Amino acid sequence: MNPNDRTLIEQNALFNGMDPKTFDYMLEHSIVRDLAPGERLLQPDIENHHLHLILEGALNVYLIAQESQEHISLRAGECVGEVSLIDGKYPSAIVVAAEPARILSIPYDTVWSLINNSRAVAGNLLALLASRLRNDNQSLVETQRSKMHFEHQASTDALTGVHNRHWMGRAFPRALQRCSHNKQPFAMMVVDIDHFKKVNDTYGHLVGDLALKTVARCMAENLRPHDLLARYGGEEFAVLLTEADLEAAKMVAERLRTKIAAAEIRTDNISFHVTLSIGITPTQHDDKLENLIHEADQALYRAKQMGRNRVEVFH
Ligand code: GH3
Ligand code: MG
Ligand code: MG
Repeated sequence: MNPNDRTLIEQNALFNGMDPKTFDYMLEHSIVRDLAPGERLLQPDIENHHLHLILEGALNVYLIAQESQEHISLRAGECVGEVSLIDGKYPSAIVVAAEPARILSIPYDTVWSLINNSRAVAGNLLALLASRLRNDNQSLVETQRSKMHFEHQASTDALTGVHNRHWMGRAFPRALQRCSHNKQPFAMMVVDIDHFKKVNDTYGHLVGDLALKTVARCMAENLRPHDLLARYGGEEFAVLLTEADLEAAKMVAERLRTKIAAAEIRTDNISFHVTLSIGITPTQHDDKLENLIHEADQALYRAKQMGRNRVEVFH
């Protein structure tokens, strides 16, 4: 051990408040090692009998489940191996030298003897474990947050902000099942913007996008909170009206149709309106999503044939 090692060790927070005799005792029983880049210090299938303190260089810690992805990097002054040393279990991560590194390895018995004999070391070690626990909790919260963020993104249509077809494939069957189970009437509605190609052709795709957003927002605003709305195709939306018999469904569809027809779509120098055709299928014996969509589509087809801007019911 060179004098520089000793200085680095003395300065380490883990040994704050430790008396010189105990300090010397610890150094006598510990070893200083050099690690080459890529050399493994800890791995999950080999027991760990040391607490390792990094004197120089850096170590990378890889979680077992994601070995290819760097988890955290530990730098000089930090230590590793304390958890497996204390709980007597295998290490939970792979620890590898990220660059040439120099470490102080304190053996199991020495660590416990320090804990037993130095209140300062015991306190420092507890503080270290507490901060590890806090960091772990924080990263759990962040993981959960980003999971929720990705789930939201995966189920939301980026253009209109309403749910997408992927979400519909999971949410609609669940709601249908609930309706069946509670013997509640429901209705499936397929909504298609009339002559939408002409909107794009006349005003351009960006204005077409604006029209889509306006329609989606207007629909969302005019449905009840327990109705399910999804952008189902390019300019098509599917709506599952729960707790709605045929009369109620027709009223909702008419309301959407008239609201959209009245909604002005405007940009700086353009103002126009679009209309909707709507096909409805009410509660039947069948509550399979594909069949309901197919039926509502047939009603929609008739609405288109009968002149558009109207609501038709599947018989
Ligand atoms: P119909 O009344 O029979 O429904 O006529 P339509 O022109 O609405 O029907 P068609 O299916 O021929 O055209 C749908 C158009 O919707 C074609 C496509 O370019 C447009 N479209 C689909 N997705 C988007 C989108 O995200 N943005 C824009 N601007 N247009 C879209
Ligand atoms: Mg269409
Ligand atoms: Mg259309």
